[in-house]
Amino acid sequence: MSTHDAIVIGGGLVGGAIGYGLARGGLKVALLDEGDTAFRAARGNFGLVWVQSKGAGVPEYQCWSRLSSELWVDFAAELRDATGVDPMHERRGGLRICLSEQELEERCKMVEQIRLEQGAANFEYQVLGREELKQLIPAIGPEVAGATYTRYDGAVNPLPLLRALHAAILRYGGKYAPHARVTAIAAEPNEFTVEVGGTVYLAPRLVIAAGLGNKELAPFVGLDAPVRPVRGNIIATERVAPAIPLTQTIRQMPEGGLLLGDSYEEAGYDDFTALRPLRDIASRAVRAFPFLRDVNVVRTWAALRVMSPDGLPIYEQSRDFPGAFVATCHSGVTLAAAHALRYAPHVIEGKLPAELARFASARFHVQKAA
Ligand SMILES: Cc1cc2nc3c(=O)[nH]c(=O)nc-3n(C[C@H](O)[C@H](O)[C@H](O)COP(=O)(O)OP(=O)(O)OC[C@H]3O[C@@H](n4cnc5c(N)ncnc54)[C@H](O)[C@@H]3O)c2cc1C
Repeated sequence: MSTHDAIVIGGGLVGGAIGYGLARGGLKVALLDEGDTAFRAARGNFGLVWVQSKGAGVPEYQCWSRLSSELWVDFAAELRDATGVDPMHERRGGLRICLSEQELEERCKMVEQIRLEQGAANFEYQVLGREELKQLIPAIGPEVAGATYTRYDGAVNPLPLLRALHAAILRYGGKYAPHARVTAIAAEPNEFTVEVGGTVYLAPRLVIAAGLGNKELAPFVGLDAPVRPVRGNIIATERVAPAIPLTQTIRQMPEGGLLLGDSYEEAGYDDFTALRPLRDIASRAVRAFPFLRDVNVVRTWAALRVMSPDGLPIYEQSRDFPGAFVATCHSGVTLAAAHALRYAPHVIEGKLPAELARFASARFHVQKAA
């Protein structure tokens, strides 16, 4: 029998960040994770803290993403100081490169919509035409029409981030149980029991943050998390001299290697790489930066995103079983700081605030008008 203040199911980036936030808030946390056989986006992602494309039509999502990007600066320093593991956060702004006038026009419409919807919250962006961009990045190819830029965008190295979160939970006296696949939850209001691997975990708070596992686990506590997998492929290249500032689809890691990515594929639970998306990623990268034609690929991989029906996060506390929460999103790197420093304190308080109400699952159950 292992008694805790909170059980968090899922040791990926969402569960890790919330678990850390609960632990730093004084709770004795048990973080239960299925382990190597699970689908784990946290170990296969691109590592962007990305704001500029978030929330057109849903201003709450833009606010939440931008808040997280702002919190990231202190969050990264805090994790580094607590654990000695550096998530290598940088926030120098990011570009979305557009390969035609039409693409640039559509992109401009989107960021302008975000700006208008943000009103007094003041979303600032810049549009760089081809000549302006060429001065900034001489390596762009002839097809590049321009780019959008916001200063809110940044990046981390997601693997040290995950390690830092786990280490910080331990540092605050929490427990991390790998190889702990949860298959059932016994629930009473503010009283949750999870039996796994011969140990019974008990706690008055429960956070379900198991990525794709949320779909099966949320109903045990009267919650709904209808997430599905969306595959992404990534290409890693050999090291090259610094040539490209941070963009949404190409990033240069501090040691010089490039990551090329940003594919979205409906492939069910198949998390193997696929030639077509890899070819499309490579082709787009070479059109943007022709010198990449001569750069060697050293590795490719694929991983499954955790996607809700409308692409927005799902945050909710159970009505039937108060004390049980669900948290899931498709940008767990970007939102890690908000999950740790904002969501977790709400869980401790036992109440989610009005500004997160937009992300409750009730939005999936609105009756269609006849
Ligand atoms: C290719 C790709 C690129 C991405 N790029 C970015 C990016 O640039 N920026 C960004 O913000 N986000 C990005 N993401 C998304 C980001 O990786 C995810 O949002 C984040 O990892 C989701 O975290 P999670 O904890 O919800 O899920 P996961 O990381 O999938 O973790 C879920 C965890 O739950 C555990 N689990 C599952 N079922 C159970 C169970 N029954 N019992 C116990 N444990 C269980 C698993 O072991 C796993 O560790 C990308 C994702 C992909 C696939």
